[in-house]
Amino acid sequence: MTSQLETRDRLTPGAASSALAEWHYSPSLEATDHVKIQPRYNLFIGGKFVEPHSKRWFETINPATEETLSEMAEADAEDVDRAVKEARRAYEKTWRKIAPSERAKYIYRIARLIQEKSRGLAVAETMNGGKPIKESRDVDIPLAAAHFFYYAGWADKLEYAFPNRTVSPVGVAGQIIPWNFPLLMAAWKLAPALAAGNTVVLKPAETTSITSLMLAEIIQEADLPPGVVNIITGAGATGAALVNHAGVDKIAFTGSTEVGKRIQRSLAGTHKKLTLELGGKAPNIVFEDAPIDQAVEGIINGIYFNQGHVCCAGSRLFLQESILEPVVRKLRERIGTLRVGNPLDKNTDVGAINSRAQLEKIQELVESGTEEGAEIFQSSCSVPDRGFWFRPTFFTGVAASSRIAQEEIFGPVLSVLTFRTPEEAIEKANNTPYGLSAGVWTEKGSRILKMAQKLRAGVIWANTYNKFDPASPFGGYKESGFGREGGLHGLSPYVVLT
Ligand code: NAP
Ligand code: MG
Repeated sequence: MTSQLETRDRLTPGAASSALAEWHYSPSLEATDHVKIQPRYNLFIGGKFVEPHSKRWFETINPATEETLSEMAEADAEDVDRAVKEARRAYEKTWRKIAPSERAKYIYRIARLIQEKSRGLAVAETMNGGKPIKESRDVDIPLAAAHFFYYAGWADKLEYAFPNRTVSPVGVAGQIIPWNFPLLMAAWKLAPALAAGNTVVLKPAETTSITSLMLAEIIQEADLPPGVVNIITGAGATGAALVNHAGVDKIAFTGSTEVGKRIQRSLAGTHKKLTLELGGKAPNIVFEDAPIDQAVEGIINGIYFNQGHVCCAGSRLFLQESILEPVVRKLRERIGTLRVGNPLDKNTDVGAINSRAQLEKIQELVESGTEEGAEIFQSSCSVPDRGFWFRPTFFTGVAASSRIAQEEIFGPVLSVLTFRTPEEAIEKANNTPYGLSAGVWTEKGSRILKMAQKLRAGVIWANTYNKFDPASPFGGYKESGFGREGGLHGLSPYVVLT
């Protein structure tokens, strides 16, 4: 393999990459010619692809090249109405009536088809979203299939999930998802809803709708009864029309806290059930007794995975004071070795930022960090001329009240803070409106348990970070939302118990 490698010394004096010799890999591009991205996608309503009533389509691009990949239909209020009516009809006529073991078979079929088509789905996810192919190939797509497998298993066992209760579906679910894990978020939403006997209208994010429509093709191939799953594309207005449609019984939303609050306000006083999975500003807490090299890898994975477009990203690093200097030194070296660039290259660690708007948001917050007096370290790597890119970055000397310590950046930017005692770590870690996730690094099991009890976070990782499993519930406290997805808990929002 050494022939594939070449060393190149392009260290900039004073740059973050320090004295480590940099290794560069020859490009290893994933092929794209086997992927069928249609030039235009219509709405998936009632089991068919139909033109939008609006007669409008919008372009969707590859954020790594800014090239147009396809155009997606823009659903207006009439289209939303059509989709909800089809979902209602399917609910009354078929889905609520068929044997739960039959529902399970359909869901298994979707899982199997995702596995069969995983290569094309991974490439499409990477082209439309900007994430490295090694992530979409090894994380997003396998986990999406795993969620359908997991919930298929529950479909005919609901009386064991909720013993001594009568379990009924809620009805028609409206589901709205963000752009950071497009197919995986669709799987998180659809699988438990279908398993519990609900029908669905799903709206993906406008910048990353392609794999949702590829999933619609899979759902057609799996021969689901028409109308059980409807997938409608569009921008925020399409989402709002779905939220406010009187025919929807439940709304499940994953996205920003700002939009989540707006949805909660507009549903107040209605019969609709609601779950919200919103933003985060997770603390990743490293004690002096932690295995430092392992922790550095966990910190890197915690913040730079998926360009930091992760609601549970470990975006606030809390270091015990005695290890500040060695850990910061190792972080400087490590970010210099992250490969930033073409997401289709199998060696790429950090891909493209999902959109120009998101890039501008990151830039604005990073400028505020420098203005508020924090010290910035940035990888000196080169980035492509076209597309949306942001170099892996971290700040030291961050004031707890500064914007970069309080606001969600949703990009590859880490804020480093310090603490002396476990009590101080807990107090500082909990000092945010969010409460989605946290990480704790220490040799001491008893300390892990104590920290886990006191941290106000839905998910706590110990000596690891960003690990996901369909059997494990996920969700937040405070302004990170309410309701859980995954595991047995993930069925609760989709059932009525009597
Ligand atoms: P966003 O702007 O809130 O959008 C999320 C979804 O809602 C998109 O499909 C969006 O459509 C739609 N939408 C926008 N305005 C709407 C409205 N008024 N009514 C109904 N739907 C509306 O969030 P984002 O910027 O796409 O995603 C990033 C955010 O999601 C971050 O804050 C992140 O923390 C959060 N997130 C949370 C989790 C979790 O599980 N807790 C997981 C992933 C992401 P358009 O795309 O067309 O705008
Ligand atoms: Mg948006």
